[in-house]
Amino acid sequence: MKNNREKFDVAVIGGGPAGMMAASRAAELGACVVLLEKNESLGKKLLITGKGRCNLTRDEVDLKELVSQFGQNGKFLFSSLAEFGPRDVMKFFEDAKLPVKTERGGRVFPVSNKSYDVLRVMEDYLKKNKVKIIFGSEIVGFESDGKKIKGVKLKHEKGKPGNRTISAEKFILCTGGKSYPLTGSTGDGYQWAKDLGHTIIAPVPALVPIKTKETWVKDVQGLSLKNVEIKLIQNDKIKDSRFGEMLFTHFGLSGPVVLDVSKEVGQLAANGEVAISIDLKPALSAEQLDTRLQRDFANNGKKDFVNYLPELLPQKMIATIIKLSGIDPRKKVSAVTGAERKKLVNLLKDLRLTADGTAGFDQAVITSGGVNLKEVNSKTMQSRIVDNLFFAGEILDVDGPTGGYNLQICWSTGYAAGTYAA
Ligand SMILES: Cc1cc2nc3c(=O)[nH]c(=O)nc-3n(C[C@H](O)[C@H](O)[C@H](O)COP(=O)(O)OP(=O)(O)OC[C@H]3O[C@@H](n4cnc5c(N)ncnc54)[C@H](O)[C@@H]3O)c2cc1C
Repeated sequence: MKNNREKFDVAVIGGGPAGMMAASRAAELGACVVLLEKNESLGKKLLITGKGRCNLTRDEVDLKELVSQFGQNGKFLFSSLAEFGPRDVMKFFEDAKLPVKTERGGRVFPVSNKSYDVLRVMEDYLKKNKVKIIFGSEIVGFESDGKKIKGVKLKHEKGKPGNRTISAEKFILCTGGKSYPLTGSTGDGYQWAKDLGHTIIAPVPALVPIKTKETWVKDVQGLSLKNVEIKLIQNDKIKDSRFGEMLFTHFGLSGPVVLDVSKEVGQLAANGEVAISIDLKPALSAEQLDTRLQRDFANNGKKDFVNYLPELLPQKMIATIIKLSGIDPRKKVSAVTGAERKKLVNLLKDLRLTADGTAGFDQAVITSGGVNLKEVNSKTMQSRIVDNLFFAGEILDVDGPTGGYNLQICWSTGYAAGTYAA
């Protein structure tokens, strides 16, 4: 069988945000670059980010504060964020004639509200710098002599000539994680990195909806609550708490605050049962809420209990709270006993659910875990194990909360890998 070998300065594997940034940047600095993408188009996952609007970065100027948001492994990002941080990203897109805007909580989106426009900027950047893109090129492995990679092998397609190998001086691995595998992120890069001598921190789904044992959530599915506090509780100890927006689904909980604690739920679950407590009235203490109820009950004494509840709860929640409280909905408010009122206060301040795993990689926004950061130079993204290998994006063992942090990792690490590989 004939062997087709093509040679480049830099080969980038994976055409997501990290790979597109790395490839364009390396080419901008003069390298002859090939970008290998197994799909027939680039940035399939990028297109679904931010519900199709793409929360592309944060409006955050303080580097230390920004780094702290990425948790323990955040310090790995110091150098790449200092070199190409959120402000640089915003300028990059603005210079490419894509105006951006900052929304609630410092989330940055294109003014057009279209992730497609973000992808278009990246495609133009690749084109301008003459990056060769090979679509439909599924990489199946590396050729290496132990210290250096010689080439990457493409999957042999029936009916096409020979085994195709792409040779390059440097390789940048940007195959992403395992979440939303239908977009192409099937975690292929982890095994290659492992075969090349790297350690992989076990990939787990993160920013992922949580399943609950309680099935009543199904009755309130679709209900979004804007200002709630959720607490993670294990062995009667509060392990974490967050304030913000959440959503009930047919199998459990989702929405920003839930996604942000999901990784911790997974970690805690390894040690036993995890309870999730929802405070529906976080602005009031239990005593203040009880006082308010006593006042309300006095003013609404003639109403049926069920007819009073819309003053207290979203309509969709009423039947569930009635069921959980055990209070007769047709009872006059004046007849609600002190014990029943206390039970109601307790439900509103501490609505308990029990975590029953997560929705898994299919619905995880990101993958936590990946290439061990100790084995990667944090300034250059170069492997400390294989001379001519670099990493960028989600394949690395660093991740952030919702709100534009994860794409910022891709832009910064992609920019660094492209710069230093070139
Ligand atoms: C629903 C959803 C919404 C999100 N919203 C946001 C948001 O608003 N803001 C934010 O910051 N982050 C968001 N994220 C996270 C963000 O999309 C990811 O962090 C980011 O896409 C990771 O980029 P990447 O380039 O590292 O990998 P990916 O985007 O996963 O790209 C990897 C590429 O590699 C290719 N590839 C894989 N294996 C091979 C192979 N064997 N051969 C060749 N090519 C291969 C894949 O086809 C894919 O194109 C969201 C994620 C999801 C799922």
